Amino acid sequence: MQAVVYAGYGEPPVLTDAPEPECPSDGVVVAVRATGVCRSDWHAWKGHEQVPLPQIPGHELAGVITETGPDVTRWNPGARVTVPFVCGCGRCEYCAVGEAQVCPHQTQPGFTGPGSYAERVALHAADLNLVALPDSVGFTAAASLGCRFATAFRAVTVHGGVGPGEWLAVHGCGGVGLSAVQIGVALGARVVAVDVAEAALDAARRLGAQAVVNSAGSGASETAAAVRELTGGGAHVSLDAFGSAGTCASSVRGLRRRGRHVQVGLLFGEAATPPIPMDVVTAQELAVYGSHGMPARDYPQLLSMLADGRLRPEELIGETIGLAQAPAALAAMDEPAAATGTGMTVVELPG
Ligand SMILES: [Zn+2]
Ligand SMILES: [Zn+2]
Repeated sequence: MQAVVYAGYGEPPVLTDAPEPECPSDGVVVAVRATGVCRSDWHAWKGHEQVPLPQIPGHELAGVITETGPDVTRWNPGARVTVPFVCGCGRCEYCAVGEAQVCPHQTQPGFTGPGSYAERVALHAADLNLVALPDSVGFTAAASLGCRFATAFRAVTVHGGVGPGEWLAVHGCGGVGLSAVQIGVALGARVVAVDVAEAALDAARRLGAQAVVNSAGSGASETAAAVRELTGGGAHVSLDAFGSAGTCASSVRGLRRRGRHVQVGLLFGEAATPPIPMDVVTAQELAVYGSHGMPARDYPQLLSMLADGRLRPEELIGETIGLAQAPAALAAMDEPAAATGTGMTVVELPG
């Protein structure tokens, strides 16, 4: 089959012939119809995360099942499916209660095994992990849920529990942040978007944000004060959708009493352990959550909001490309992520 492969960290990815995936006994092989291009793939390619080499990137996929393993009971060839980027093992205590996003034995296409920049990809523990696509949800829209939109959905709904009329602050308006803006607006929340780039704030406004804060040149306390002022005392729910010591502190300090902070942006290297104002957390009874992806169990609510048009992830897609253009799209991420609101790139494959 055709696949995009890199032989070593930082070596140019190329479209080439690759071995057909082997179907796991509890898994399936999926013919990929769409797959998102994500900065996580870039991080693995650059060696910021250890992956088996050579590697096929890609973890945000939708497609059609072509083969099922002998232990699979819920799925048959021909089914249209997507899958969370974190796949649970299906055997541990966390998977047993549907919390596959924290499975200690999790698999991730493109990281623990070959990914979806390919004509076909193998997925493990299919009965637990696969999600059926409603007819009204296309492959490209499903792939664009990827890790960013789905992660934002879980952060806003499961952790944040945002209700109509409540204030949702979103710190960082890249892919995850803009997804959170659209989701918050769809749930009836009033959204205040925070970013250092005007283009990102314009995109947030177009998605329905009621207020914006340009935090360029401001300290965390100053940004938080602006959010508290705009929201009449602070946000009910606040996301650090960027992942830095500054945005984390702004998010916590911008909350209303009894507010909920959700850490969505990943924190790497020296930023991995930011100082959190725990004095404010106790005095104001704030809640602090971490959010890591979204398990298959949580998809039906998200897909029903796609099916009836309340959520429109396709509005966040910048361009669609073919598999042959995927290597260049990955390499283009060498440039820092300018929050220009140009949107996600999705690779489409012929059926
Ligand atoms: Zn598990
Ligand atoms: Zn991703």
